[in-house]
This record gives sequence, C-alpha cells and structure tokens, in this order.
Amino acid sequence: MRLAWDPTDEAFREELRAFINAHCPPQARVGKDFLGGDDEIIPDWAREWQATLFDHGWMIPGYPPELGGRNATPVQTLIYLEELARQGIPRSVHFGGYAIVGPSLLEFGNDEQKAMAPAAIRGDTVWCVGMSEPDAGSDLANLQTRAVLDGDSFIVNGQKVWTSYATVAQKCFCYVRTNPNVPKHKGISVLIIDLDTPGVDVRPLRQISGGSEFAEVFFTDVVVPASNLVGELDNGWRITMGSLAHERGGLWVEGVFGCQRAVEGLVALAERRGLAGDPAVRRRLAAAYERVASLKALGYKGFAGFAQGSSAPEHSYMKLATAELRRELFELGMDLLGPYGAVVEPAFTEERARWQQGFFVGLAANIGGGTSEIQRNTVATRVLGLPKS
Ligand SMILES: Cc1cc2nc3c(=O)[nH]c(=O)nc-3n(C[C@H](O)[C@H](O)[C@H](O)COP(=O)(O)OP(=O)(O)OC[C@H]3O[C@@H](n4cnc5c(N)ncnc54)[C@H](O)[C@@H]3O)c2cc1C
Repeated sequence: MRLAWDPTDEAFREELRAFINAHCPPQARVGKDFLGGDDEIIPDWAREWQATLFDHGWMIPGYPPELGGRNATPVQTLIYLEELARQGIPRSVHFGGYAIVGPSLLEFGNDEQKAMAPAAIRGDTVWCVGMSEPDAGSDLANLQTRAVLDGDSFIVNGQKVWTSYATVAQKCFCYVRTNPNVPKHKGISVLIIDLDTPGVDVRPLRQISGGSEFAEVFFTDVVVPASNLVGELDNGWRITMGSLAHERGGLWVEGVFGCQRAVEGLVALAERRGLAGDPAVRRRLAAAYERVASLKALGYKGFAGFAQGSSAPEHSYMKLATAELRRELFELGMDLLGPYGAVVEPAFTEERARWQQGFFVGLAANIGGGTSEIQRNTVATRVLGLPKS
C-alpha cells in the first residue's frame, strides 16, 4: 500500500517549507529533543519566532488569520505538525498559552476573555496553567486552592506546583475550588489571575536537567475580580477536560516524529563512534526503527478515522507509547556515547548533551499531561473496555 497526499496538500507542505527556510531562526533548528539550556527561560529568538509564525498564519493553521492561522483543513494541520516535528522545529518554547489557554478562552470565555486569545497564541502575553497541587496531580479533582466570592471579588488562598513558566508569565489560568460542599468534580472553577497581584508568590523549582522552567505558586488572600471567572461558577471541570484535550490534540504527531528524528540521530551517532557494525547495536536500532514505523502507521490510522468523524482511540495509546519509546531511545544514545554518556553539561559534550539532557526530559514526558500509569488505566478501560480495578 502506498500512502500519498493530494497535490493541494503537497503544495501546502511546499509553502510551509519555503516559509521555514525563509524565516526560521537558527536557534530553533537545534532540534526539539529538549528545550531549555538557554540562560533565559523564553529567549528573545523564541518570542520573535512565535510572533512571526502568528503574523504569517502559521501558528495554528486551522484557525482564521486573526488567530494566527489560515483556515487550514485537518489534513493540512497534520502535514504542518508532521513537517515541524520532522525538522525538529518548535513553534514556541511555552506551550500553555497557544495550546491550552488560547483555545480554552475561545471555547469557554466571555467576549472580553475571548479577546485575550490572540495575544496568548502569539506569545505577547505569557500564561501559565495552574492545575497541579501537592495533593492533586493525577487526581486533579482533589485540588484544594480555595476561592471565596466576597462581593465583586474572589479571595484566593492555596498552592500550585509544577507550574511551567510561572516565573516569566503575566497571567495564570488557575483552577480553584469554589464549592467544597459538593462532590469534588462539581465545585471547581477557573479564574484568570494576574501574577503581579499582591499575595502571589512564585518560587522557581530547579530540575535535574539544570533548568528552572517550573515553579511553585502560593496564593495568600489574593483579591481577584469576579469578572475574571471563566465560564460558569462551579462548572470548571468541563474546562479542565477541554484544556487537557487541547493540550493532547496533535501530540502524537510530535511524539512519533520526535522518535523518528531520534532514531536517525542514533544511526548517525553509531556511525560516528564506529559502532554501526556491532550486532547488538544494530539489533537495538532496527527494533527502534520498527517501533517508530508501527506507531506512525497507528497514528495515521487513528487520524483517518478522526478525519471522517469517528473517535480515534489509537491516540490514547500514542502518548504512552511515544513517551516510553523516547526514553529508551535517549538511553540508547547515552549507551552509544560510552563513558561520555555520563557527562550532562551541554558545553562539554558533543551535540550539546543531546542524549543525556533528552533522557532527563524524557522522564518528564512520562509524567506531564498524565503519567504513563494513568495512560495505561485509560487504555485499559476506555480503549480495551476492561473493567476498572
Ligand atoms: C514537563 C511537565 C510539565 C508540567 N506542567 C504543568 C503545568 O504547567 N501546570 C500544572 O498544573 N501541572 C504541570 N505538571 C504537573 C503534572 O500535571 C503532574 O506531575 C501529573 O499530573 C502527575 O501528578 P503528580 O506529579 O502529583 O503525581 P501523582 O499523581 O502523585 O502520582 C505519583 C505516582 O503514582 C501513580 N498513580 C497515581 N494515581 C494512580 C492510579 N490511579 N493508578 C496507577 N498509578 C497511579 C502515578 O502514575 C505516579 O507514578 C507538569 C509536569 C511535567 C512533568
């Protein structure tokens, strides 16, 4: 069987490639194996690149031009994601604004809040997403950050954790408990909180990879205008589900093509290190190649169903499978480097410690957006139809 795109879609891909060749900054071409490592959490080149994508209708191609798109079809959006992932080019180094907050504001916000979406997608306003708390991660509905309505304002007290980009964000899309007296899914609301409001304390967390993209965010008697409520009071769980769906849509493409790039990089690394003839290395590379090819086929199968209006249960499995494969590939990269595989400083190793740093980031990929164990539960119950344990 030979899969091919139609000529209009191939023309779309060529237009995208020409745009990338003309505009993509060299820093974005280092590959998307890992982000971070820059002194700045959101470097200037990344801000400019995101704005350039938006201004040319290449930020979210399926959206209309005023939202950074060009009304592209679902197939063209797939081609777009595939092409960026194949070349290892990130759209942005902070996904919250364009991937979660912008789409959520458009879906659930009032007119004033919808008007904030273009700046979120263009990256002019940096947003963080305040979901996780010390006792609310996989069990998100357990969140305890409390918001009490007092006249025209909410008074917010509590703590978030693992809040990506909070140290550089202006606003937080924050999930709070507004009603503690109902079943826990039913008492959650979403507030827009300006991070420079008195009582907000953002404390950076340092990661194993050396970067500091995460923070803890503490709220002490923070006064938030009632008009900053997104959607209806106590109906935030719906927004939560929408936010996670926005985050996950298209992730399989990045996952699969990221793994494909890694396999290509591993073959080159094995050749450079004189290991390409080693039977054990060849077996591991061939097995990795086969797994990427199978996942790609599964992703396309799911997409074909999705484009025809049915659900794509295959995609529930893709995050799990690509996150786990990715970790194994970067571990293989460290093995191929021999003793150098233990050196994590980008400045002292070849390819800026691509394999070592990527391995650490791979550990995070097994947690963020739903841990591998939770994904397994989801696949078991919703895809395979097994009973809940
Ligand atoms: C790269 C990255 C970016 C992130 N960005 C953000 C962000 O911007 N905003 C935000 O709010 N959060 C963010 N997070 C946090 C993330 O959402 C949570 O880490 C994740 O939901 C898991 O929650 P937890 O860390 O509390 O682990 P827990 O839920 O406490 O889980 C601990 C362990 O127990 C397992 N476990 C839990 N429940 C079950 C179960 N029912 N069955 C089987 N095993 C189970 C888990 O799989 C895990 O291994 C980010 C995390 C990462 C890694």
